[in-house]
Amino acid sequence: MTVSYWQINKNRQIQEADVLIVGAGLIGCAAAYFAAEMGHSVTIVDARDLAQGASGRNAGFMITGLDSYYHRAVAHYGEAVVKEMWALSRESIGFWRSIVARTGTVPYEQCGSLLLAESAEEAAELALAAKALEQAGFDIVYHEKDPLGRGYHAAIEQPQDGAVQPYELAQAVLSLSGAELISSNPVYAIGQTEPEVVTVYTQKTIYRARYVLLCTNAYSPFLDAFFVGKVIPTRAQALVTDPLPERVLHSCGYSRYGYMYYRCTFDNRFLIGGARDLYTDEEANTSEDRLNEHVQAALDAYIQRYFPDVQAPVAQRWSGIMGFSVDGLPQVGTLPGKPRVGYAVGFTGHGLSLGAGTAQRAIDYLLKGTSPGAVDAKRLS
Ligand SMILES: Cc1cc2nc3c(=O)[nH]c(=O)nc-3n(C[C@H](O)[C@H](O)[C@H](O)COP(=O)(O)OP(=O)(O)OC[C@H]3O[C@@H](n4cnc5c(N)ncnc54)[C@H](O)[C@@H]3O)c2cc1C
Repeated sequence: MTVSYWQINKNRQIQEADVLIVGAGLIGCAAAYFAAEMGHSVTIVDARDLAQGASGRNAGFMITGLDSYYHRAVAHYGEAVVKEMWALSRESIGFWRSIVARTGTVPYEQCGSLLLAESAEEAAELALAAKALEQAGFDIVYHEKDPLGRGYHAAIEQPQDGAVQPYELAQAVLSLSGAELISSNPVYAIGQTEPEVVTVYTQKTIYRARYVLLCTNAYSPFLDAFFVGKVIPTRAQALVTDPLPERVLHSCGYSRYGYMYYRCTFDNRFLIGGARDLYTDEEANTSEDRLNEHVQAALDAYIQRYFPDVQAPVAQRWSGIMGFSVDGLPQVGTLPGKPRVGYAVGFTGHGLSLGAGTAQRAIDYLLKGTSPGAVDAKRLS
């Protein structure tokens, strides 16, 4: 966005900031934690409030890896990049777990995950993925038959994966970071005309910051046109039922190449999300946070097909906006001509899997100049 002559009001309050983070989602809070750990004073500004974006709306799956199967990812990105991304994923999950352990209050369960095949064709792909993961030395279990007895064809089990209450996780990371959060304060323009000062125009004030990090994921293209075509806002739908009398699933389940995902919550409700592959025209390229009745009906139908024992009314339906990276990998960099404005975006529906490690690399890159490795956005230029 631009700033008009009238908006540069001489009477407007101007505040100094050391590290200013835009976006109070999981990634912004993790970045704040890492910057504070390095001795910086951190302010976070958000257009809404803590975890009101995707971070407070996700399924809470901490699944190791990317959104594509291991062997397919190797064919697409090359083995070195994929190994690095799997390590980044472990690092990220390790960080969230350390927060859970330190606070002792964030609901979390190391329940493992089951990547399930809905067809024989998908089972054949899973077998290839399992072989590639085993050869790469990962601790997985391949099930040739459906371990749930619900009509699936095969599964890969990753015992080290887990599930978390994502809103409470964000709250805990924010609290441990010691950062100040200024909510209801959208940023509408950012300029860097001096080498060591970034001017950030927000609704409430104008900041003169030493460093700025954008953690605005799906919303990044609306803040700066640089992200148009690089981060694609994509809607996801989810629902949760009333509590069930018995637990129907003990791990994080996902299937149909990851388009469907489901688990039981800590208070034993059935949570399911996904099905956007059936309505891609409606769900892609949108930041409109609303229910899509077609996708919600597909979630209902999925429960009837695979989990008919889930006999409880739906308690809550919601949607959220994910930031899909144009090449599927997170993006870390600085804005052209603004070397003190960094960004960590493009989590492609995997912010819990990849976010903390990416936030750490973004902070290290911005404040210390170290290479972000495989998530370096220079690969896209
Ligand atoms: C339904 C659903 C299910 C999901 N399930 C999973 C899962 O199980 N596991 C997983 O790993 N990932 C999952 N994801 C993806 C995950 O939630 C995201 O990758 C992650 O939350 C991204 O975090 P973030 O902090 O980058 O973005 P967000 O949480 O979206 O935060 C961005 C913040 O920036 C703020 N902002 C934007 N523009 C401005 C501005 N101009 N000024 C100030 N503030 C601004 C927004 O208000 C928002 O708070 C899911 C997503 C959805 C929607």
